[in-house]
Amino acid sequence: DIVDFNKLFERIIDRFEMSKSKNVEFQRLISDTACYVELDTDKITQVIDNIISNALKYSPDGGNIRFGVTAQDGILKVMISDDGMGIPKENVDRIFDRFYRVDRARARSMGGTGLGLAISREMIQAHGGKIWAESDEGHGTTIFFTLPYELDEAGEWD
Ligand code: ATP
Ligand code: MG
Repeated sequence: DIVDFNKLFERIIDRFEMSKSKNVEFQRLISDTACYVELDTDKITQVIDNIISNALKYSPDGGNIRFGVTAQDGILKVMISDDGMGIPKENVDRIFDRFYRVDRARARSMGGTGLGLAISREMIQAHGGKIWAESDEGHGTTIFFTLPYELDEAGEWD
């Protein structure tokens, strides 16, 4: 599909914002300019759903989740940031491994299978993008992913 990524992203965030049961505030830094990307809508929706549900799951009451999109040189960069419990530095890259959960006690109380981010990484790589995490234990986590998009001759979003 050829999709306006910003519109798709806003729609997914709206859905979470309307149905959330936690007191978490959403902050968006998303341009209202259209940015057309060739992608599989169902798969990218699944990726974003998983990242947002993780952010909500690990956010404290009264926390914030920030959403951002930037576009430069044919690469769209998406950011979803929470101020939850974070991930220890030595484990940050492992969260994309199959069945990996940061600690068993936490994992049992939070539910889930530990497959969400492994599947997300496969889907982003299949789209020619990258996905990674930055985290500060005790202060929060940011998940980034990129997607390539086509520029037209004027260098505008195609
Ligand atoms: P599933 O997505 O399959 O329901 P899950 O959420 O546990 O299960 P992943 O989404 O793959 O699995 O995440 C893997 C692990 O990474 C989580 O169990 C959690 O320990 C850690 N993690 C992911 N996102 C965050 C986050 N925003 N803050 C803190 N820890 C996180
Ligand atoms: Mg998950």
